[in-house]
Amino acid sequence: MAKFIPIAEPSITQKEIEYVRDAIKSGWVSSLGEYIARFEQKFAEYIGVKYALTTMNGTVALHLALVSLGIKEGDEVIIPDLTFIATANAVVYSGAKPVMVDIERDTWCIDPKCIKKAVTKRTKAIIPVHLYGHPANMNDVNEIAEQNGLYVIEDAAEAHGAEYKGKKVGGIGDVGCFSFYGNKIITTGEGGMIMTNNEEIFERAKFLRDHAMDANKRYWHTEIGYNYRMTNLQAALGLAQLERIDSLISKKELVFDWYEEHLNNIPGIKLNPEKEWAKNVYWMVCLVMDKSSPLSRDNLMIRLKEKGIDTRPFFYPISQMPMYRSSKINPVAYDISQRGVSLPSGVNLNKEQIAYICQQLKGILKNKI
Ligand SMILES: *Cc1c(COP(=O)(O)O)cnc(C)c1O
Repeated sequence: MAKFIPIAEPSITQKEIEYVRDAIKSGWVSSLGEYIARFEQKFAEYIGVKYALTTMNGTVALHLALVSLGIKEGDEVIIPDLTFIATANAVVYSGAKPVMVDIERDTWCIDPKCIKKAVTKRTKAIIPVHLYGHPANMNDVNEIAEQNGLYVIEDAAEAHGAEYKGKKVGGIGDVGCFSFYGNKIITTGEGGMIMTNNEEIFERAKFLRDHAMDANKRYWHTEIGYNYRMTNLQAALGLAQLERIDSLISKKELVFDWYEEHLNNIPGIKLNPEKEWAKNVYWMVCLVMDKSSPLSRDNLMIRLKEKGIDTRPFFYPISQMPMYRSSKINPVAYDISQRGVSLPSGVNLNKEQIAYICQQLKGILKNKI
């Protein structure tokens, strides 16, 4: 059997090692130090926004965005049903209620038509998620937000560098949130960032992130804030990654192209979508099995594991989890969630490994056992 092929792994080069070594040698190991500002500035420039603020992970970036916009108990926030749990949990941390709506079949992202139907007097914000690297339909989301006086917080945790109509995601709504977890497009180990063009929101977020300390009076706090800061060591790793982001994304695209070459005309499966207005960064190469497939998604995953190939099921709909259970079914999210699987998508993969994965996959699909 071939060596085990993991779902993802970070790409760490000499540059990352040098920057982190430099950071640790400087003695600035906590959240002061030059790498923090350099990482924030460079990522803001990359996304095309004015302000950026590092956080200790992507989940708290979402929470910080919500509280900085004043979202609180009694409010509702509309999110897609198909997303990582953090999107929903962050809303609950703020005191508000997440309202899950369905997704589009051809982007896997929030369906603007369903947002419209879910808006109530209590709705304060929408969180579109750019799922698996494909941008959500941002013009429609922004339009609904504008008509109803809502904020838009982009969850761009899986989509660094993805573009909606030529504009990088994370810089299109009122606030953009990123994650730099180990399997994301660029990593700081754990880490996150919030981005905005609005100075007031930025200042509010910075204040709340740093324990809401009075700017002119040290250790004087007028509100309950948070310590959501990133360390200088993490920012050093992040800056090195960011300096390589173009090549990391190119490799993601290449990995997808290799899969596509092998799996293009295989009946019974479909790979990630890419709308004509979108640049997908293929955070994960995903496969959705046809409804009529005699082989179940879970059996496919078991069979691939036997061949040393790691996979992940799609996220489960948030409204299916015990603490968010709802009688309302979002049919597209439920349907795609059951049939979707993520394949090994790491940037260290080579052409031969992908040929091997596809060969095994085709064999399993053909034998249907
Ligand atoms: C990874 C992820 C997050 C949270 O990021 P962490 O850094 O792991 O806290 C939020 N939303 C989505 C869609 C994600 O994939």
